[in-house]
Amino acid sequence: MNTLVIEDEEALAGHVVRALTRAGHDAAHAADGPAGLKQALSGRFDIVVLDVNLPGMDGFEVMQRLRKSGSGSRVLMLTARAEIGDRVQGLKAGADDYLTKPFAMEELLARVEALGRRGVPVEKSDVLQAGELTMDVRARRVVVSGETVALSPREMEVLKILLSEPGRTFSRDEICERIWQREHEYDTRTVEIFIMRLRKKLEGGAGVPVIETVRGAGYRLRVV
Ligand code: CA
Repeated sequence: MNTLVIEDEEALAGHVVRALTRAGHDAAHAADGPAGLKQALSGRFDIVVLDVNLPGMDGFEVMQRLRKSGSGSRVLMLTARAEIGDRVQGLKAGADDYLTKPFAMEELLARVEALGRRGVPVEKSDVLQAGELTMDVRARRVVVSGETVALSPREMEVLKILLSEPGRTFSRDEICERIWQREHEYDTRTVEIFIMRLRKKLEGGAGVPVIETVRGAGYRLRVV
């Protein structure tokens, strides 16, 4: 996979780049926010490992600009353990996953590899539909009431699960397992953040399905 590491701590960046290279990935490095954003926007990278505290422009802003540009790169954010709000803020900004510093290099490699895989099994049909919402799975394109909506890869996966059986309730655990395949202990609250992001992007319009919270059970897609 093509990876980009945006991290200003030279020693750490060096370790990460070497570990990725040893694991068979191509790894480029940028040492500040603006340089990292510029490289990430080139569209060459499958995965971006993005530190939060960066000179020039912080990781949240890099993340937001990247998503605004419609970038489909998957982003793993590196957050400081002391900053518990960073995880939530990073996911809200559009990150696909996060890792708290300090971390074991094996854990970073496992996360990068998990992000590189398609987490959700390929559907029989390439096009999933519910009301005014259509997802072309192969083209990774979502259209709501005739308008294309830009979703991050993880948002796409969560929506794809709900859209695979509209009306069925999926528990947070099931969504987590289908996306992350039980490789790590994941915080199921992460799913809540993806649901929140999706609701914001999909809201509006007659016939547009809504993501309902089924108390104590999970989430389901319902066409209203
Ligand atoms: Ca830093």
